[in-house]
Amino acid sequence: MPLYHGSCHCGAIRFEIAAEIKELTQCDCSLCRKKNALMCAVHESAFKLQQGESALSLYQWNTRIARHYFCNVCGIYTFHRKRSMPDHYGVNVRCLDDFDPATAHVRQAEGKSMSVVDADARPEWKGPRA
Ligand SMILES: [Zn+2]
Repeated sequence: MPLYHGSCHCGAIRFEIAAEIKELTQCDCSLCRKKNALMCAVHESAFKLQQGESALSLYQWNTRIARHYFCNVCGIYTFHRKRSMPDHYGVNVRCLDDFDPATAHVRQAEGKSMSVVDADARPEWKGPRA
């Protein structure tokens, strides 16, 4: 299993993931659009925070289930705990060393339809909204 090392811009936060990264997601929710996030999902057992717990800032919105982390020094989004798969992390693949996003398929996730706060959220999401 390939091991990737990731970090924020200033290096305060360092983590590693053991993953065969075959699929990336882009999401159209209001948060991911503004972060311009390109992500992969990894099970929590494949994720290890190596350094920077004190540099992690938490942002929550919408149902406040997902936990979106970013560096409180440089502001970079590094990873989040997912709402749709609570035992998985979503990881910002642009924080990974030696990973070329062009090598993986990009799936468009319909995060906007999962929203409980976007007035124009689409109705397709079948999962819980609360
Ligand atoms: Zn940083």
